[in-house]
Amino acid sequence: MMPSMDMEKIVSLCKRRGFIYPGSEIYGGFANTYTFGPYGSELRKNIKDLWWKTFVQQRADVVGIDGGILLHPRAWEASGHVAGFNDAMVDCKQCKARHRADHLIEKALKIEAEGLTEADLTKLIEENKVKCPKCGVSNFTPARYFNLMFSTEISKTGDDSKVYLRPETAQAIFLEFKNVLDTTRVRVPFGIAQIGKAFRNEITPGNFIFRLIEFEQMEIEYFIRPATGSGQAEQWQQVFEDWLAQQHRWCELIGLKKEKVSEYEHPKEKLSHYSKRTVDIMYDFPFGRSELYGLAYRTDFDLSQHSEFSGKELAYRDPVTNEKFVPHVIEPTWGVDRSLLAVICDAYDEDEADGETRVVLRFVPAIAPIKVAVLPLMKKDGLPEMANTIFDQLKMKYRVEFDDGGSIGKRYRRQDEIGTPYCVTVDYESKDDSKVTVRERDSMKQERIEIKELEGWLSDHLSL
Ligand code: ATP
Repeated sequence: MMPSMDMEKIVSLCKRRGFIYPGSEIYGGFANTYTFGPYGSELRKNIKDLWWKTFVQQRADVVGIDGGILLHPRAWEASGHVAGFNDAMVDCKQCKARHRADHLIEKALKIEAEGLTEADLTKLIEENKVKCPKCGVSNFTPARYFNLMFSTEISKTGDDSKVYLRPETAQAIFLEFKNVLDTTRVRVPFGIAQIGKAFRNEITPGNFIFRLIEFEQMEIEYFIRPATGSGQAEQWQQVFEDWLAQQHRWCELIGLKKEKVSEYEHPKEKLSHYSKRTVDIMYDFPFGRSELYGLAYRTDFDLSQHSEFSGKELAYRDPVTNEKFVPHVIEPTWGVDRSLLAVICDAYDEDEADGETRVVLRFVPAIAPIKVAVLPLMKKDGLPEMANTIFDQLKMKYRVEFDDGGSIGKRYRRQDEIGTPYCVTVDYESKDDSKVTVRERDSMKQERIEIKELEGWLSDHLSL
């Protein structure tokens, strides 16, 4: 049966089963903030661990760093964020809803509005009587640009006390470029990877955890030789294609259906001034096709800017040719939260079990929050003790859950809803034949396995 998939079902399952709770709920909630519950935090951690394993551990040409959320304020001037990381907003005077001015115009008039001045945006909205999508009235405040970076103060003295919460993780990588070069064996081409929180004062957050004000990114800056010079230039086009293929491979690794993943090539005239090519990896979310990940060729923009603003040379000397150059950068970037949302939407399925609709999250084992559930059939006659021994053995290797409450059917259903690939049931026969029943989540097929062979069996089937 094809499930009718809407966001309401996903949001309610996430709350009900401990994946994602609305933030600060006991205080009446705090809009667009969330807490990842016991299963959501496991899922997040598994996604981040798999990413690190794939792109750092398994590559000889990538190293990782863990930079701060707070950087020197000049770094954000150099990166262009202080001057240019702006969106224009308007408020509906009728219903008080806030909108991005360019999005309003683009939707209503089907014209490009990014980058227009406040006056032009205001005029376009007024002259065309653009309506508020929420209440239908056309009565807006003038368009006003504001910076998307959250700022705070590091001390109470002077004008230079203003610091920013990073709106992307990438800049710390550029700031540490020279330190990494000087302290490791990396040679161009090489990458520096980082996972961490980023903050953006988004005008229109929403679609559950798709657009947040506090989110997490997994980014790599991959440094290459510029295409001019020695004749042994890296072909940036090839490196770009390789990373694009890697991003598609990643989507397969986390189990996303191929037909739901696509690419959006940014038109040349819409590229940021520092980018020569940008491709977004798109995913068909229940609310429509939207950006999941990004890939950009950022040239030498960042290193050159930081070099100029800091006065420090950020160049690379080829150990063989002695040639000196500022490396160019290919930047693949992944959102942790959007990964989480995509895998939950993709894994969500409904089928039938015992004449009832069964909700199941068909996660690939590598990211499933719980790999195995150990369930004693009854809470008596030594079954819990036997199950506990199995739990103690498996927990050394996997994230395992022990559950002895309620009917076995209900317990299976619960594990299906949190996406546990295997349930191990200890029943009365187990006492005689030293076997357990292993139930597979997707097919619901059951198999009797010798307890002493269980670990090997699971290791073969989970193949982590
Ligand atoms: P969008 O166009 O959706 O605003 P963006 O192009 O500004 O995104 P980037 O600056 O390229 O996004 O950020 C890299 C990645 O970080 C995105 O592909 C996405 O996965 C994630 N990301 C960006 N903004 C947010 C946000 N507000 N909430 C959650 N994830 C985000």
